[in-house]
Amino acid sequence: MRAGYPPVALVVADAGPTALTNRQQAIGDLSAGCWRGQWCKVVRDYNDDGWREYDDSVPIVATTLDLLAERGPMGPVWWRYGRPGRHSLLDALDDPNNRAAYNQRQKAREKKARQEHRDWMRTLACADCGQVPKEESTWEYGPEGRQVEWARRPGGRCWTCHQEHEERLEREAEEQLEAARAANAALRPCWTCRGSIGGEEGSLLELRQEAGLDRLECPGCEQGRVAKDLGPLMLPSPTKRELIAVLVSAPDGPRWEERVLHAKLYPAKARRV
Ligand SMILES: [Zn+2]
Ligand SMILES: [Zn+2]
Repeated sequence: MRAGYPPVALVVADAGPTALTNRQQAIGDLSAGCWRGQWCKVVRDYNDDGWREYDDSVPIVATTLDLLAERGPMGPVWWRYGRPGRHSLLDALDDPNNRAAYNQRQKAREKKARQEHRDWMRTLACADCGQVPKEESTWEYGPEGRQVEWARRPGGRCWTCHQEHEERLEREAEEQLEAARAANAALRPCWTCRGSIGGEEGSLLELRQEAGLDRLECPGCEQGRVAKDLGPLMLPSPTKRELIAVLVSAPDGPRWEERVLHAKLYPAKARRV
């Protein structure tokens, strides 16, 4: 049983097509309060969609005498105020945009949103263990028991794997430092303080890689030199006599190789001393 009041049917005649259209339009505008029905929405659904209820309205359908004569009253000749197109009488009196139709559209929207959410969550799968999160961000216990918000990113890690990854990086850095420390201790001492060329253990300046060939001092001594504006350290260049002597016997005096290397790196002309 259709809701609302019995419909009113208008049959217009005796005018050209434009005049008929205009007349139907004018009647429609004047009587809008009667036929428009009530626009309803579900606020908690958060959409612009809705449906019309016609319980308190009078449906108005219109046609022309010519169309009636041509196709009969059951033909698709009826135009319903508030709806586009011509319909058969029964179709014209039907209210297709009702609550049930709205519910169906809303169900489809929710299904789509759930699917999109699932698809999005899959892009946040952990790069290490593959775990797919249920939520984009979680509150986790971080360092010193403080709560930290962990937001998942595409190609990122879950909190557990993230922590393991951080620990591994720390461990690797520690191992790298220890290897560099051992290598530098065996390499050659700092020219100035005679300590390890890598610098004081555990100091901020300590080298994390093996000292390069051109390094003569540990980072601490080098920084001290800069602070005191002493200019670069210059080793005594090998003398001609020394260079000849080394051809026939083992080099004389300490750190011969460093002096030779240094002389190559800093040719006499560039020297301040
Ligand atoms: Zn993981
Ligand atoms: Zn030093």
